[in-house]
Amino acid sequence: MSDLDSIPTDEARVRELDRAHVFHSWSAQALIDPLPIASAEGSYFTDYAGKRYLDFSSQLVNVNIGYSHPRMIAAIQEYAGRFTTISPAFANDARSEAARLITELAPGDLNRVFFTNGGAEATENAMRMARLHTGRHKVFAAYRSYHGATAGAIAMTGDPRRWGSEPGMTGIVHYWGPYPYRSAFHSTSAEEECARALQHLRDLIAVEGPATIAAIILETVVGTNGILVPPDGYLAGVREICDEFGIVMIADEVMAGFGRCGEWFAVDHWGVTPDLITFAKGVNSGYIPLGGVIISERIAATFDQRLFPGGLTYSGHPLACASAVASITIFKDEGIVEHARRLGTDVIEPALAKIAAKHPSVGEVRGLGAFWALELVRDRDTREPLVPYNASGAEAKPMNDFAGACKQRGLWPFTHFNRTHVVPPCNTPADQVSEGLAILDEALDVADSFYTGS
Ligand code: PLP
Repeated sequence: MSDLDSIPTDEARVRELDRAHVFHSWSAQALIDPLPIASAEGSYFTDYAGKRYLDFSSQLVNVNIGYSHPRMIAAIQEYAGRFTTISPAFANDARSEAARLITELAPGDLNRVFFTNGGAEATENAMRMARLHTGRHKVFAAYRSYHGATAGAIAMTGDPRRWGSEPGMTGIVHYWGPYPYRSAFHSTSAEEECARALQHLRDLIAVEGPATIAAIILETVVGTNGILVPPDGYLAGVREICDEFGIVMIADEVMAGFGRCGEWFAVDHWGVTPDLITFAKGVNSGYIPLGGVIISERIAATFDQRLFPGGLTYSGHPLACASAVASITIFKDEGIVEHARRLGTDVIEPALAKIAAKHPSVGEVRGLGAFWALELVRDRDTREPLVPYNASGAEAKPMNDFAGACKQRGLWPFTHFNRTHVVPPCNTPADQVSEGLAILDEALDVADSFYTGS
């Protein structure tokens, strides 16, 4: 006899209750049929029919440590037996230790953590801090970005997910970040793209008024919008611009952080220290919701004598923080960050190079660590995407057919627009990643069948 006995154990009932009562994100409710999942372990999850999928999406690129990690489960059970909840107004052991561990990993003088329940609340509060710290209003945010779905976070977002929430918060100015394959600046090399993207930022700052700009936010490596790895020198250039004009630099590492890029934080790859880092997802792989903002001493000092006008009932939730302590400890013990880095250099990059040589529909591969994208095209010369930007319905058929071919073969892909991303859990063994890449290779025949180039 358990208090959980009423939770259904059969697929039909799970599906029936979902359809009757659950309202899903980003969906037309009547047009979806969510697959009930029965269990998950390591880098695989299994449906009720017993079909196992190798997860090349890490769900929403958050299960960096894989499913059902026994040490994570034991730690959560142990801490739940000790303590479950206390308000943010008290000091709590797990929260204190999680903050110590996170700030120890963070670069430079980023020495304080404001905990949230997830990524949107992190970017929302980073923006709030930057505005109060500078006394300025405007925030520069990139096109081709995602920062979350609360009012400020969605206003900063630079993709179609923002459209349904407009008109939104005032003072957000969008800019183009670097993207050599589809350059907004007609660049012909990564160096040129870097220089022109930085000049574009300077031009926008000049016309918007430097004294009105509180922050520049960017995804260190752009995630859902294409795994856009910045050219060397870009982040250092943004840092320089921020210093020159007294603008707060916010690195949104909700997706790119905690091992995903083969570093604890993606900024470490370029040795750049932002003023604020937002995190969530990989900090504890979503075993319990958690996110936060890591704050520089200078910005934290703004709120030494002055109240910070923000908070959450569950800021620094003890059980969530305990799971972050466990996750960071396991990452260190098992060398997961280094493993992710090697997956990138030794397994994924070479395999994708072969795949790109074989499949005409692969226009470009790019990435690092356990964070890669294949950009699929109809024509390599014109770079026409395999499906139009923001395609849905019949227009999206080539990508849907490709994803279907992956799923049929037991691989769960992460597809977005005309791209498929390779984002397995960061501790996936190399042979399993290779297995997934072999399936991807087969399924790309479907994408090739839509190729119209010569
Ligand atoms: N920032 C980035 C870069 C993200 O990828 C996401 C989510 O995908 C968010 C913010 C929002 O995080 P959450 O969904 O936890 O609110």
